[in-house]
Amino acid sequence: MKLTVVGCSGSFPSAESACSSYLVEADGFRLLLDMGNGALGELQRHCGLYDLDAIFLSHLHADHCIDMCAYFVARYYRHDGGRCDPIPVYGPEGTEHRLTTAYADTPSASSMSEVFDFHTVKPSTFDIGPFTVHTERVAHPVEAYGIRVEHGGRSLTYSGDTGVSPALEELARDSDLFLCEAAFTHGKENIPDLHLNGREAGEAASRAGARKLVLTHIPPWTDPEVNLTDARTAFAGPVELARPRVTYEI
Ligand SMILES: [Zn+2]
Ligand SMILES: [Zn+2]
Repeated sequence: MKLTVVGCSGSFPSAESACSSYLVEADGFRLLLDMGNGALGELQRHCGLYDLDAIFLSHLHADHCIDMCAYFVARYYRHDGGRCDPIPVYGPEGTEHRLTTAYADTPSASSMSEVFDFHTVKPSTFDIGPFTVHTERVAHPVEAYGIRVEHGGRSLTYSGDTGVSPALEELARDSDLFLCEAAFTHGKENIPDLHLNGREAGEAASRAGARKLVLTHIPPWTDPEVNLTDARTAFAGPVELARPRVTYEI
């Protein structure tokens, strides 16, 4: 499978990157993980507006889902041939209500479900197109999920937003690529059950036995090189920083 970093800025966009959004492709199927601020624009560098086959939202913080409001407009008021058919959208309990509220008080609440086929995520294993996915609750102030995506004997695990989480480490067990948030800086920010720092991301990758670690969700006010160095002290395998428009063959 192929992973493309659509956006990787943490908490708010940077001048260089949109917020969280990752395109996963295999067998011609396109699954988008998160659609944070600015992601819809960047996505169009990589595929057509209507080329997505499914969307997974790790949680309902705006930096992971708010461009779904813009994508609703693109699908509902499509200019080149009528309204789009509903695309599967997997998200936590209340995703439809949250997005409808964020969009506006018009159109009616039923409109979003005309172009999005909402599925409530719980910790489980299920198929999305050609992928087998596993979801687990991670440690964050709102209901939030990490996701493991498997295809053809290969695996990608995406942390979403999380503090230190044994469930995440189990999810990432032996993953070929572990896309893990490192929003905090070791020795600087320390709020439990919110975000990982670089060292904690490295420790999680090490305990999981991941083969490669890619750090993501680093906010614009944080020096990513510090988090990268910290992760390398805790994980002996290859580590790099996520960058927009970079692709990985997994
Ligand atoms: Zn976030
Ligand atoms: Zn969050």
